[in-house]
Amino acid sequence: MHPLTPHTTSASPRAQGSRRWRWGAAGALALASGVALAQGESPRAGSGIDVLHYTAQIEPDLAQRSLRGQVAIRFQTLVAGQQQIEFDAGELQVESVRENGQALAFEKLDQRLRVKLPAPAAAGQRREIQIVYRGAPKFGLEFHPERSEVYTVFSTSQWLVCVDAPRERATLDLSLTVPSGLKAVGNGRLLARTALGGHRQTWRWRQDLAMPSYVYGFAAGRYQEAGGSGDRVELRYLSAELSPPQLRKVFADTADMLRFFGRRAGIRYTGSYSQALVAKTIGQEHAGFALMSEAYGREVLEKPQAQALIAHEAAHQWWGNAVTCRDWNEFWLNEGFANFMAAAYLQHRYGEAAYREQVEGWKRRLDKLRETGKDHALIYERWLKPSADDRAVVYQKGAYVLHLLREELGERAFWRGVRAYTRAHYGHSATSADLRRAMERASGRDLGGFFARWVESAEPAPARATGAPGR
Ligand SMILES: [Zn+2]
Repeated sequence: MHPLTPHTTSASPRAQGSRRWRWGAAGALALASGVALAQGESPRAGSGIDVLHYTAQIEPDLAQRSLRGQVAIRFQTLVAGQQQIEFDAGELQVESVRENGQALAFEKLDQRLRVKLPAPAAAGQRREIQIVYRGAPKFGLEFHPERSEVYTVFSTSQWLVCVDAPRERATLDLSLTVPSGLKAVGNGRLLARTALGGHRQTWRWRQDLAMPSYVYGFAAGRYQEAGGSGDRVELRYLSAELSPPQLRKVFADTADMLRFFGRRAGIRYTGSYSQALVAKTIGQEHAGFALMSEAYGREVLEKPQAQALIAHEAAHQWWGNAVTCRDWNEFWLNEGFANFMAAAYLQHRYGEAAYREQVEGWKRRLDKLRETGKDHALIYERWLKPSADDRAVVYQKGAYVLHLLREELGERAFWRGVRAYTRAHYGHSATSADLRRAMERASGRDLGGFFARWVESAEPAPARATGAPGR
């Protein structure tokens, strides 16, 4: 409910690595496919291919809490001689896999779908396979039939067969079939709304900028809607509980936020941006829209200054969605940035004290991490099951370190570096080393020491027992 609260669950793809691979089968795959794998290294879904585009049709059944889906995955092979390819497929039950109408052999292993290619691929081939599936996801998709509502909660592979690694970006054409009378939001441009028989309708969107699959999603419900506009941006606000005037009040600053972040990023946000209040979530960003809870909407209605989460999710349109951490071990680049930029927006909107309040909160959390021995480097390999403390490192310490960098470099060099970093990696993945290079170029300084101390390692806990002065 708060931007400083991590919106990660151990079930999300952000807890990468929680799925263990069965080793016998994977060893055989490595030999068969010609993909070099070190002993003990698990093959990734998407190994040896680059996904270019998904065309998906999803039809959830609200009452049954289930879904039917099909997806055409267009990809390019990167490795010669590959005979099998793999995708993330959660708990989905795959019914068929075809290429040009021809059925392909497949098997489901853990949360992976392994597909046999009819002939070994040459490197650089473009191919497309069609997958038909069904499922009753326990997470990844939330059903609230009492509100006629369904929406995605990360873990895209629980409702769409895909490659859910953050470095894999693709464009998306998503069709969602829901009961007539529901309103829906999805990624990118709305292409069509088509009435079907049986009181159903299909919403179809197209996401043109390639995005990582964890920001794919949708929400549909009996929403009331209000709109607004910013600089070349169409804004939509939706809620099943708040009225259009209330929604306009809650989201009154959205246009200003997008303008502010666009200036800080050096890249203007265009197209549409939707914000929907759903039954329950701690807040999540998707490509082109954000989901927050009805309860949070009411909180902002009472207290407009509580809009840090609105700002956090809007900031993700740049930092997280468009510039994405290459792997989950550098997730701080997404979340530290979103928290920091939200605070920068509060500073712009309400003044210095609002910013300082956020910084003090991060600092207190970091002090607590240190006192309890839970602090660690921002780059963190062990995202097996992130604890609340691990997430505090990423979200709060991550934001605090950006604040320290700002103080270290001064306003002009810092923001010049943020713009250079964002523009250089917009539409791509990035690493902490990329951020360091951009900041060094912007400031003309060697930041090796700063990054070693704050990003790549952790400071030792304050030595209280020896009577060292408190900080
Ligand atoms: Zn976030």
